[in-house]
Amino acid sequence: MQNIQFILQLYTGLFVVLNIFLFDYLWMALTNAIMFSAIVVLQIDLRKNLNIERSARMLIGILVAFMAVYFVIAQGRNYSFIWFSLLPLLAFFLLGLRLGLYVSGSFLAALVVFVIWFAPQWPSYAINIPAIFNIALALFAVLTISRHYEKSREEAFNFLARRNSELEVLATTDPLTQLNNRSHLDDVLEQELNRAQRHQHELAVLILDTDHFKTLNDSYGHIVGDQVLKELSQVLLSHVRSSDILGRWGGEEFLVIAPDTDEDGAVELAEKIRIAVAEHRFTDEKLHLTVSIGCAAYSSEDTLITIIQRADNGLYQAKHDGRNCTRLGKTTRIPRK
Ligand code: GH3
Ligand code: MG
Ligand code: MG
Repeated sequence: MQNIQFILQLYTGLFVVLNIFLFDYLWMALTNAIMFSAIVVLQIDLRKNLNIERSARMLIGILVAFMAVYFVIAQGRNYSFIWFSLLPLLAFFLLGLRLGLYVSGSFLAALVVFVIWFAPQWPSYAINIPAIFNIALALFAVLTISRHYEKSREEAFNFLARRNSELEVLATTDPLTQLNNRSHLDDVLEQELNRAQRHQHELAVLILDTDHFKTLNDSYGHIVGDQVLKELSQVLLSHVRSSDILGRWGGEEFLVIAPDTDEDGAVELAEKIRIAVAEHRFTDEKLHLTVSIGCAAYSSEDTLITIIQRADNGLYQAKHDGRNCTRLGKTTRIPRK
């Protein structure tokens, strides 16, 4: 907005000088001077009230009034009409599509009627120095404003693209651990199941549950519990492969989706993780943690629900067998101890 005001001010200021000293066209210099002052008033108003929408409407209002007076004073100097090309550009930019179209469309219609009506009375004008000046400067103004228009559009686009990716990260990330969240895990698992089905690939799912976490919370408080979950997440992250997808399944439970992994591979991966956690020395040295892990490998009848259910059954079995161990899930559920 300020840039557009500045461009228009530069032009009207320049034409005040040109019309007085070069073209000896005092009426035009006066109209330019009035427009220049009106833009100064607008600038003060914008700085005081910070109302960009009002400023934009007033600026277009001033421009429309100025052009109307200018076309009347120009008395059919044909080059004068080239200045009209600024109006749609500025009206669309400052007022938006609907109002911009309405303002520039009605002005154009009025201009056509005006020209048809008065054209027979106007003398014919030759292309002279002021005409060439006007044409060149009008085209240069169109170029400057178009460039400004495109730059703003590009900035807005980049801003939205940045915001979009930030929102995407927020929507898929668990705020405490910064791992994938439950809803993202659901989406990824769905995709991976489809892939496994289509290409007959192996796929395994591991559910990890922290052992006796309630006791840890009760002994050290929830804040420490949260810190432990964060640190545990980093331990897990450093022990899964880059192709595995790790996330927080809920509370103190985590899920690993391991593409191209069969039953044996799943147990091997689970054991690697389990041992790493059991051997990890937490920053707070008095803390010691273990995890129980249930695994399931994809079979052709599996859906998202059945594969998770089997891994969950494995987890129940692991808890049942004394915790800090890995079990492959069976279809039938083992009752908890
Ligand atoms: P086990 O799994 O070995 O059977 O025992 P547990 O004590 O871990 O089992 P349970 O699932 O009953 O308890 C989980 C506890 O995890 C309860 C809840 O307070 C705690 N918890 C869940 N989410 C969070 C969290 O975000 N922060 C903290 N500090 N604690 C959490
Ligand atoms: Mg639990
Ligand atoms: Mg637990």
